Amino acid sequence: MRHSLSPVIHNAAFAAAEVDAVYLALPVAEGDGAEAVAAMRRFDMLGLSVTMPHKAAVLDACDVLSDMAAALGSANCLYWRDGAIHGDNTDGEGFVRGLGDELAVAPAGLRCAVLGAGGAARAVVRALAGAGARDVVVVNRSPDRAAAAAEHAGAAGRVGSSDDLADADVIINATPLGMAGTSAAHELAFDVDVARNDAVVCDLIYNPTETPLLAAAAARGLTHQNGLSMLVFQAAVAFEHWTGVDAPLAAMKSAVAAAIAEHP
Ligand code: NAP
Repeated sequence: MRHSLSPVIHNAAFAAAEVDAVYLALPVAEGDGAEAVAAMRRFDMLGLSVTMPHKAAVLDACDVLSDMAAALGSANCLYWRDGAIHGDNTDGEGFVRGLGDELAVAPAGLRCAVLGAGGAARAVVRALAGAGARDVVVVNRSPDRAAAAAEHAGAAGRVGSSDDLADADVIINATPLGMAGTSAAHELAFDVDVARNDAVVCDLIYNPTETPLLAAAAARGLTHQNGLSMLVFQAAVAFEHWTGVDAPLAAMKSAVAAAIAEHP
């Protein structure tokens, strides 16, 4: 079984950057998120990563929220600045930085389609618009959630349907379809045959590293990436918040690659 990759990524980063810190995964019961933030104050921890179901619950316990965290109603990274606990959501920036790093694709001026409207989709929608995407079309089975997600892109955002995928420069799966260990492990979020030959296909899933969707994209010769770059770069943003120094990306990437090679 594969465990959380976050301790692997962050401990490799601390070692490579010679930061005297250790990253621990601590189980926190639902409803106890604010107490975890209180522990960060009490023990003067460098920061916290926050996972579900606590991403909304910790907001009130922060002193300052980034625009991203406040707009999304969700924080995944807490850090100190000038004696105050700041809450940020690094997922969207992580996705955009990962897209640039791995595929040299910048969203500015591009037509993007996002499948799904959950927490990850909303973060990505907001970050794509912030990075200058021309259109951010949200395609989701629940129309009301699609509309709420599309609003995060402001004037660039709208609700779309699978018909919109044929026009997209970048198509992003932000649903769990294709995720290992679920009943939808063998499902594809969309039919890659509808995509243009020069479309970029991204899957936010990284377990498995090649989802059925990405296998189909590869078979068609489409440029594609899985969710590992988003995972690494959301961690890089967190690392930079915590330490104030540039994230040692090479060490973080190779730690992830080694962990996945060990537990494919
Ligand atoms: P979420 O909040 O539960 O949202 C899931 C979205 O997928 C919802 O919009 C839901 O539609 C849709 N969906 C779920 N099952 C579906 C189905 N059978 N058919 C069609 N649509 C379906 O989940 P999340 O936290 O946003 O995560 C989404 C994905 O992103 C997961 O695979 C997760 O592993 C991945 N992720 C990756 C990273 C990374 O660092 N790479 C970070 C975060 C998340 P409704 O709105 O209609 O319910």
